[in-house]
Amino acid sequence: MAVASVLCDEERRKVSDLISLSARIIDEGLADELTNRATQELSEVAPGVAVVESFGHCVAFRTDRGLVVFDTSNPAAGRRVVQALRGWSTEPVHTIVYTHGHLDHVGGSIAFVEDAHERGFPRPTFVANAAIRERFARYRLTDGWNRAINRRQFRSRRNVGMVGDQASPRMHFLPDDVSPPDIVFDQTLAMSVGNLAFELHHARGETDDHLWAWVPERRAVVCGDFLIWNFPNAGNPQKVQRYPGEWATALRQMAALEPELLLPAHGLPIGGRERIARVLGDVASALEQLVDEVVAMMNAGEPLDSILHSVAVPDEVLQKPYLRPMYDEPEFVIRNIWRLYGGWWDGNPARLKPPADGELATEVADLAGGAATLAERAQDAARRGRLRLACQLVEWARQASSEDPEIQRVAAAIYEARVSGETSLMARAIFSAAKEPSGSAPTT
Ligand SMILES: [Zn+2]
Repeated sequence: MAVASVLCDEERRKVSDLISLSARIIDEGLADELTNRATQELSEVAPGVAVVESFGHCVAFRTDRGLVVFDTSNPAAGRRVVQALRGWSTEPVHTIVYTHGHLDHVGGSIAFVEDAHERGFPRPTFVANAAIRERFARYRLTDGWNRAINRRQFRSRRNVGMVGDQASPRMHFLPDDVSPPDIVFDQTLAMSVGNLAFELHHARGETDDHLWAWVPERRAVVCGDFLIWNFPNAGNPQKVQRYPGEWATALRQMAALEPELLLPAHGLPIGGRERIARVLGDVASALEQLVDEVVAMMNAGEPLDSILHSVAVPDEVLQKPYLRPMYDEPEFVIRNIWRLYGGWWDGNPARLKPPADGELATEVADLAGGAATLAERAQDAARRGRLRLACQLVEWARQASSEDPEIQRVAAAIYEARVSGETSLMARAIFSAAKEPSGSAPTT
């Protein structure tokens, strides 16, 4: 996640407003600029339209009956987001729309409820897609699992107020004080608040409960996580199913409205019809390419292994400042497409009902002449840059001989090298956890 800034300080001051900054980054292809910032600061990006940059952002519209707000950021940032908003407007918050039920979008809701209470305003009305209710129920059902994977996923994240370090380990993954929705809808909801109309559209993409909004008077699209200024989070190895094809369709529908202002929940807002069309089209095309190629190979009867090692997104696409694989990455999206249209079995008969990991590792170690020999071969492979192979060999070695400190040391060194060779936060975090002796176990 190296950030070698191209803009000097003076230039950055000149482009301090977010729309100019994003225009410059997109038009000049400045792939190393920091776009996902959690400054907790508010910018008015169009008359009566504000963005508080957080993790994730809060987007607010002024109406003559109070504010309409999209998303509340995470539990740790909610109060600061409200504070930033209050520096811009002291009007009541009339409605809060959740773009989806991820914690960095709903977790700050209590701060908005408390703010209304302190100011003697009515409690805001919360609006969401109907599927958010099942999501919240699932979070309660799988509380321990979700806390464990978030701790692992966000261990190496820097520069953002994160859901992973929100509070004590006793706190629930979905805090008890997150406001449930008051109004839910299935496909579309036309909503007017005072003088401003909002068209809410449900679409599946990063989640099954996602929505995006069209605000015709402002020619603005609020797109939630359909754009995150990173390669789409459509493959996350530790989370439930995502929907790359439907994600692309939603981006095409947004583009067809020819918006002049695009307001994502992560990264920079974007202005200008052509620029927005280009960004939406590029992200949609990247996803469509993956879906098309994976499905074509599935239809031809290819196993997952062949697909994983032959389908790729071209480098020049991944170098675009809004498609960098710094969070999720194409390889994980390929697996999700396989899971969506196929099943969990990868096509290798040995892995339909495989031996226990330990049994296989012991057998391989015996064949090799001992776990130490396997670890040496792993080091050789790593030295030759074959890190995928090195990790497999060293995993066998430590599963066959888990108490051996030398093998643990070799494993830690190999995973250290692996972390440095990866770009996505998801891969880096999992390999980083694997440096520890218990790293390959399902909970850390
Ligand atoms: Zn998000």
